[in-house]
Amino acid sequence: MQKQDNAANKLHSEIMERSGQDFYNCIQCGKCTAGCPVVSAMDLLPREVLLYLQMGQEEKLLNSKTPWICASCFTCGARCIKDLDLCRIMEAIRVKILRPRGAECLSPGEIPRELLEKLPQQALVSGFRKRTR
Ligand code: SF4
Ligand code: SF4
Repeated sequence: MQKQDNAANKLHSEIMERSGQDFYNCIQCGKCTAGCPVVSAMDLLPREVLLYLQMGQEEKLLNSKTPWICASCFTCGARCIKDLDLCRIMEAIRVKILRPRGAECLSPGEIPRELLEKLPQQALVSGFRKRTR
């Protein structure tokens, strides 16, 4: 139990430090989730990400699709009555997952040229932000 508590505390401080957001301020009002355009594809709702962070449920967060589905659209932050920036929290969770792998998960050289020409630049930049350290 002591070990679990230490792991939870470590996750708290890492995500809080990287995101600059105090997720304990979240009151679970759900306004973020109600405005999220991609919530139907998520396995954890945006407000649940905050809840599990508060509860120190590291496994649930690190195994969730939600931080990768998040489109970094800033809608949730604009709606949050506590001024929490969920984009930064989602990004901090992605970095937490990627960093131990010690390598970038998406390399420009591995994207086929024909795909590079077709993909919107915004999608490419977003992909690199999500999948590189
Ligand atoms: S930033 Fe992510 S979680 Fe927030 S509303 Fe947009 S897609 Fe949803
Ligand atoms: S809008 Fe803000 S306070 Fe409300 S559930 Fe979402 S993160 Fe928490």
